Amino acid sequence: MIKVVGQDAQIELFLKTADKGMLAHSFIITGPDGVGKSVFARFMASYILCTSKNKPCGVCSNCIRVKNKNHPDVIEIAPKNSIGVDDIRGLSEKINTKPYEGDRKVVIIKGADFITIQGQNAFLKTLEEPPLDTTIIMLAENINLILDTIKSRCQIYKLNRIPIEKVKNYLISINVEEKKAELFSNLSDGIIGNALKMLDNRYQILRDETCSVFTKMVQFNPLDFMMIEDFFTANKDNIEAVFDIIISLIRDISVFKNTLKETHCLNIDKIDLIRNLSEVLSNEKLNRLLEIILNTKGNIDKNANFQMAITSLLLSMQEV
Ligand SMILES: [Zn+2]
Repeated sequence: MIKVVGQDAQIELFLKTADKGMLAHSFIITGPDGVGKSVFARFMASYILCTSKNKPCGVCSNCIRVKNKNHPDVIEIAPKNSIGVDDIRGLSEKINTKPYEGDRKVVIIKGADFITIQGQNAFLKTLEEPPLDTTIIMLAENINLILDTIKSRCQIYKLNRIPIEKVKNYLISINVEEKKAELFSNLSDGIIGNALKMLDNRYQILRDETCSVFTKMVQFNPLDFMMIEDFFTANKDNIEAVFDIIISLIRDISVFKNTLKETHCLNIDKIDLIRNLSEVLSNEKLNRLLEIILNTKGNIDKNANFQMAITSLLLSMQEV
């Protein structure tokens, strides 16, 4: 059975609607990145294609193949950037083909909020007269980018962040050791996908490296400048993760400095580092550091020149 962690209320709403025979032909699932939109969509697909009486049974051939992502009548479309009118034509053709096996198919469109306005208007025709054998599920982080005319033709499921405790319990249920489960759920921001990414050994190495580079950054030794710059350049593809690690460290140092309570810290395995830095960094400096990091992160998000943004970050930090 496909497990949608922590989204019980939305699952229940879906099942109730389905049992009453009131499912729409088109859906939007919205919520932050990593919250479980794709898993929720596959749960729905499993329900729709399941051949048992108690849907989704999790054991029939359809349920198993939906779970393993190899059912020919579940089509996933994941565009990289924006989706224009031409892409929508191709998409509509796919939607209008007959199912391969059974009498229904499910089309999952990831990143539906990347469809341009013109694209959405073109897609509207397909949504107004969808083939009866097809369910369309659109996934969107930012539902505000989707036209009202599209939204009004869809049933909408909104997935929210979940309590840290639920993330932790889930990690333990998949055999993550308790200490790590506590740490990663602390850092997950209530998003299961974040916690799962942290299980990757490469993330853990990146986090350790970022912590030691951050320690060097706040010591402001000009001799370290090149080394720190090289670290950022080498991790350009993971820069968001690097900044998030630094932001959560600054947060912990601030919290510890003002409460002296380890239990209020998220990075529970870095308490020594947090304590040491809380002694040398003033509140004012911490605020300034946070501001510089957030600024740089924002500039890079807005496609500023990466190298210049990093150099300017390091120069600003030396002036703190
Ligand atoms: Zn089934």
